[in-house]
Amino acid sequence: MNDDEVLRRFSGIRRWRAGEHRAPHKPLLLLLALGRLQAGKERLVSFVEVEEPLRRLLEQYGHPRGRQRPEYPFWRLSSDEGIWEIESSHPVEVTSAGDPRLSSLRREDVRGGFTAEVAETLSGNSALLERIAGDLLTSQFPPSLHEDICDAVGLRTSLQLVTRQRRDPDFRIEVLRAYEYRCAMCGYDGKLDAASVGLDAAHIRWWAYAGPDAIDNALALCALHHRALDRGVVGVSEDLRIAVSRRFHGGGRARELIIDLAGAPLGRPQSGLPTPAIDHIGWHRSEVFQGDERPAVPIDAAAEEPRGYTT
Ligand SMILES: [Zn+2]
Repeated sequence: MNDDEVLRRFSGIRRWRAGEHRAPHKPLLLLLALGRLQAGKERLVSFVEVEEPLRRLLEQYGHPRGRQRPEYPFWRLSSDEGIWEIESSHPVEVTSAGDPRLSSLRREDVRGGFTAEVAETLSGNSALLERIAGDLLTSQFPPSLHEDICDAVGLRTSLQLVTRQRRDPDFRIEVLRAYEYRCAMCGYDGKLDAASVGLDAAHIRWWAYAGPDAIDNALALCALHHRALDRGVVGVSEDLRIAVSRRFHGGGRARELIIDLAGAPLGRPQSGLPTPAIDHIGWHRSEVFQGDERPAVPIDAAAEEPRGYTT
């Protein structure tokens, strides 16, 4: 099979997303399978073996609400054209909606993986494999998460192949300038001589989900808070306060840098420039932010250092 045909089949996979809602089940399973293929593992893997790793991936990088169901992508990918196949010595029981019963998938030791022709083409062409991995990552996730996801699925990639996302240097400078080169969450404003170090222009609604390069869809954030925003550890409320997920925990510095920010006001851009737009904030809240929000940390009148962003 030639490279173009493999690319065509991957680009034809159905329901990578449902409108603006994130649906990264299939891409995460495909990335996991690409990692296995690259490591020279067997083409077909039993559901039992892949179930827990896939569930963990979905919990960390999937949609924040609802039950994570590794059986869906494992089964449903087989109905996309010529990419994935299922092998089983017994028929698998399915529900009236056409999805497999979990107990049946586990009991029958059902195996799934890339079709032989796709696996053969990808095994012999590491550049093609990396290109497909890069396309899957770019289509679903912001660049700040690409390395973490590659590690989680065991993919070795050369980064320039992975992050083929277009970048607009003007946008970055515009955002950092709007926020006066300070993190909008913690106020970090470190510089090496005159040059800012460790500050990013973060999208609130991800570029992969049509998030525009616009001041009202951006925050200047330090590297830590950028990562925390993209992982859904922190979010923004409609009244422009910092939200922190109850799923996040840690002591000492983790408490100071993240947990204690719960309910603190977000830094604002210079006057006259737009604050984050409600619909972008809402998208992040429903598609990325990890569930329950911690209650606001009461302001301690005795604290010597005010928390969060201060002027
Ligand atoms: Zn920060």
